[in-house]
Amino acid sequence: MIPRSNLHTHTTFCDGKNTPEEIVQAAISLGMCSIGFSGHAELPFADCDSWCMSGERLSNYRKDIFSLKQKYASKIEIALGIEQDYFSPTRTEPYDYVIGSVHYVKPQGVPIAVDVNPEEFLNDIKTYYGGNALALAKDYFSLVSEVVSVTNCDIVGHFDLLTKFNEQYGYLDEDDSHYQSLALEALDAVLVSDPLIEMNTGAMARGRRSIPYPPRFLCQRIAEKKGRMIITSDAHMASKLLYGFEDAIEYARSCGLRSLYVYQNGGFQEFSIV
Ligand SMILES: [Zn+2]
Ligand SMILES: [Zn+2]
Repeated sequence: MIPRSNLHTHTTFCDGKNTPEEIVQAAISLGMCSIGFSGHAELPFADCDSWCMSGERLSNYRKDIFSLKQKYASKIEIALGIEQDYFSPTRTEPYDYVIGSVHYVKPQGVPIAVDVNPEEFLNDIKTYYGGNALALAKDYFSLVSEVVSVTNCDIVGHFDLLTKFNEQYGYLDEDDSHYQSLALEALDAVLVSDPLIEMNTGAMARGRRSIPYPPRFLCQRIAEKKGRMIITSDAHMASKLLYGFEDAIEYARSCGLRSLYVYQNGGFQEFSIV
């Protein structure tokens, strides 16, 4: 069995519901081998103060996770990470790992969040892309293709976040070859640096998607190219720490992946799933 771990976790330091200590206690009671925190890095956009960490909040986050590492050292491995957005300023502090994510596109210099509010998002597609979601996808995936070099991340977060609301709102045809080419091109660009790629169950936990990010055609390409994947829950509360993990392992296997990676002993270890 693959040891249970989650490196994509949000707390009250950004937009999560639980404190880091509550998360650690939940992880211990779930028998997890490790738990990693990935608070949202600073973003230079007006609406981000409420859910991003900068200044004192960031330094308190770091202190808190450091002290929990010591306090719970005999019970669980704790990792200090950060979720760095494509548009976050360059970090200066060291982390155990970094998740690199694209949450915004910037048509005409205006930041548009792809994962916050579906009605606003659809409206923005109309206003900035003439209703053409494929044009937005082009912008989105061109940022994703650079996310490893720009954020210097270990893990690529929710690869196709722009589809978060697509099962309900149907703004993109994910079976369309034009769409798939854009996504595959970005994936091939990312795979050159061999980062870990998330199999992220967060939108399933929130009732937005029936499968993890990314979808089958992308996971199959990752498997073909011997890319490395890691399951994460993008948890914003303790009760969702391992949401959908069993299904995600089965899904990974069905896409042709032969192993998954888990954070253990200060690094990423490979575990066979066949
Ligand atoms: Zn994210
Ligand atoms: Zn996140």
